[in-house]
Amino acid sequence: MRSNKETIAEIHDADYTASLKNRISDLEQKTYELEQTAEKHRRVEFATGTGSFELDCESQNVVLSGGAESLLGFENTEISLDTLKSIVLPEYREIINKSVNKIIKNGKACKLNFRIKNRLTGKILEIETSFEIDTRREIIFATLRDITENSLVRRDSKRNTDLNVLLKISLDLLETLEKRKVLRKIIQNAVELTGLDTGALYLIDKKNIRLEFALPPLPDDFPDEFRNAELAKHPHIAEAARTMSPLIVYDIEKEVLSEEEKLIIRSRNMRSLMYIPLIVLRKTFGILIMGSIGKKYKLGEREIDLSRTFSNISSLALENSMLIEHLRKNLNELKKVISGKIKSEKKLRLLNRAVEQSPASIIVTDSEGFIEYVNPKFTDLTGYEPDEVIGKKPSLLKSGHHPESFYKDLWDTITSGNNWSGEIMNKNKKGDYYWESVLISPLSDSDDRITHFIAVKEDITDKKELLESLVKAKDKAEESDRFKTAFIHNISHEIRTPLNAIVGFSGFLNDQGLDPEKRRNFCDIISESNKQLLSIIDGLLLISQIEAGKIAIIESEVNVSEMLERIYARFQPEIKRKNLGFLLEKEIVDNLTIITDKGKLIQILTNLVGNAIKFTHEGRIILGCRIHDNSIEFRVEDTGIGIPEEEHRKIFERFYQAGKTGSKLYSGTGLGLAISSEYANLLGGSLHLESSPGAGSVFYLTMPVKKS
Ligand code: ADP
Repeated sequence: MRSNKETIAEIHDADYTASLKNRISDLEQKTYELEQTAEKHRRVEFATGTGSFELDCESQNVVLSGGAESLLGFENTEISLDTLKSIVLPEYREIINKSVNKIIKNGKACKLNFRIKNRLTGKILEIETSFEIDTRREIIFATLRDITENSLVRRDSKRNTDLNVLLKISLDLLETLEKRKVLRKIIQNAVELTGLDTGALYLIDKKNIRLEFALPPLPDDFPDEFRNAELAKHPHIAEAARTMSPLIVYDIEKEVLSEEEKLIIRSRNMRSLMYIPLIVLRKTFGILIMGSIGKKYKLGEREIDLSRTFSNISSLALENSMLIEHLRKNLNELKKVISGKIKSEKKLRLLNRAVEQSPASIIVTDSEGFIEYVNPKFTDLTGYEPDEVIGKKPSLLKSGHHPESFYKDLWDTITSGNNWSGEIMNKNKKGDYYWESVLISPLSDSDDRITHFIAVKEDITDKKELLESLVKAKDKAEESDRFKTAFIHNISHEIRTPLNAIVGFSGFLNDQGLDPEKRRNFCDIISESNKQLLSIIDGLLLISQIEAGKIAIIESEVNVSEMLERIYARFQPEIKRKNLGFLLEKEIVDNLTIITDKGKLIQILTNLVGNAIKFTHEGRIILGCRIHDNSIEFRVEDTGIGIPEEEHRKIFERFYQAGKTGSKLYSGTGLGLAISSEYANLLGGSLHLESSPGAGSVFYLTMPVKKS
C-alpha cells in the first residue's frame, strides 16, 4: 500500500502537472496567436511589399521580419550586418554606412532609398527605408518598402529619353573599333550624358594609374603627378577599381582625401564626383571620373543608374575594340604567315622551274650518295633517263680518267659539310667522254645533319676543247713565231750565202787576168748559188700559194714504175758522189698506171729522197713502192741520222728544222716536208715516218689507188 506522504506527493504532483499543462496550453495558445499575428503580419508585408528588421548595434546582428526575408531573399531570420550589406548595390553602401552612423550619433530617424540585389532571385529592387533608433535597447529598427514599381513608373518617361541616348551611345561606341577612339568617345559621352562639367579617364596598370584623357584637357604645364600616380594614393579610384562598381561622392569636401586627391580636386575645384569603373575581361581596366566644378551636383538615382549602364556599355565597347585590335593583330600575323607561305610556295615553284629548265645538269642524292633526282639537262647530257639512274650512285658516270684519291677527296670534302668544286671527266651512256665543271653542296636539316647532296654540273667539253685548242694555237703561234724568227734568221743566212757567192764571184769575173780554170770554177759556184737561191724563193712562193689555197690538182695517167725510175736516175749521180747505196724496189708495181697529179707526186718523192741523201752519211737509200689494200705506198728509207720521236710531228710543220743546233750543218729551209705533207693531203693521201736517232728513217707516202 502506498503511504500517505506518497499520496500527498502524488496529489501535489497531479496539481503541478495540471497547472503545467494549463500553462503549456496557454503558451501554445499564445504562441499560436503570435504565429497567427506574425503570419498576418507576414501576409500584410507580402501584400504591401514591405518588411522590417532590427539591428543590434552591439552584436551587429540583424533580425529580419518575414516580409524582409522575402524582400531581401534571405531564408534565415537572423543574419549579420555584413551579410545584409552584401546585397546592397556597392554604390549605396557608403551612404547606408553614413546614415547609420548618423542615427547612432544623433538618435534622429531618417529615410533612405537604396537598391539591393535579391539574394534568391537576383532581381534588383529599389528599397525605401526608414530608420529609427531605440537608444535604450541600442537597437536600430528599420522598415523596408519595395518601391521598384513606383520608381519605375516615376522614372519611365525620363528613362526613355536616357535609354534612347544610351542606345545611341552604345551603337556609336560599338561601331568604333579603335581603342583610343573608344576611350575618347566614352569620356565625351559621359560628360554629355550626365551633364557634369569635367571628366577624366585613368587607366589602371597594376599598382599605377595613368591619365589617358581629360575633358576639358589638362594644360600642358600641369605637373606629371596629375597624369601618372600610384593607385594606393588615390583611395577613391582604388575603391571603385576594387569593387568594380560606380562610386558616388556627393560632396568631396566632406570626404577624407589623400594628399594627392586633394591636390587634384582642389586644383580643378571639383565638388560632386562619380567614379565609374571600366571593366575588361573581368578586371578593372580604367576609371572614368566625372565631376561638377564649384557647386554640388545632385547625383541621384538617375545618375547612378546611368553611370552603371554607361559603365557596362563602355566596358563592352572597350572589350570589343580590344578584341578587334587583338584579332587585327592576329589577322596581320596570319596574313604575314600566309603571304610568307604563298611567297615561299611561289619561290618553290620558281625554284622547281629553274631546276627543271636549268641549262646546268643537276643531281640530287641522299646522304649516302644514292641519286634521288636528276633534271632533264642531265638526261640530255648523259643519255640516261631518270629511271635508269635513280637509286644508283653518280659513280656510274666514272670515266676512269681520275685516280681513286680524287673521288675520295671529293667525298671527304662534302661529307664534312663543305662545298666541293672542280672539273670531272665523265663518260656518257654511249661511252663518250665529256668534261664537267661541278659544284657539289651538302644540304643539312635543322639539326645540322646532312640529308642530301646537290650537284650542279656544266658541260665544259666544248669549253675545254676550245681552251685546249687555244692553248695549242697559242703554243703554236709562239712556236711558229720562234720558227719564223729562226726561219728569217736561217733564210737570211741561206739567201746571204748564195748571194754573197754570186756577188763575190761575179766581181772576180771582171778580172781580165783571171785564169780560165778559176773563171770556170767561179762560174760554177755562181750558177750553183743561183740554183740554191731559186729553190729557196720557189719554196717560199709555194708556201704562200698553199697558204692562199691557190694550188690546183692537175690529174693525169702516171706509170708508177717509169716515174720511180726517172727519180732514181736523177739522184743516182748525187748518191754515188756521197758513196751511198741506192736501191729501187718496184717489182710489184710494174706496169701499174694510176691517175694522180704527177708533178706533185714527183715533188713529194724528190723531197723525201733529197732529205734522205742530205741526212745520210753512210749506208744506203731505198726508194720503194707497194700496193697495200686499196692504196699505194711509196717508201724512202735511209740509214741516216734519224729523228727523235718527239720531233716526228713537228718536222711536218712549216719552217721547222729538227735539232736546231745541228741544223746548221744542213742547208735547207724547213719547208720541204711541210710542202710535201700538204701535197700528200691534196692527193688524198698522207705522209708518216718511222725513225729514231742513229737508226735511220723511213718516210711513207700512202695514197688511194685511182685507176684509169
Ligand atoms: P729542210 O730539209 O729544208 O730543212 P724539210 O722540211 O725537208 O726541211 O725537213 C725538215 C727537217 O726534218 C729537217 O731539217 C730535218 O731535221 C728533218 N729531216 C727530214 N728528213 C730527214 C731524214 N731523212 N733524216 C733525218 N732528218 C730528216
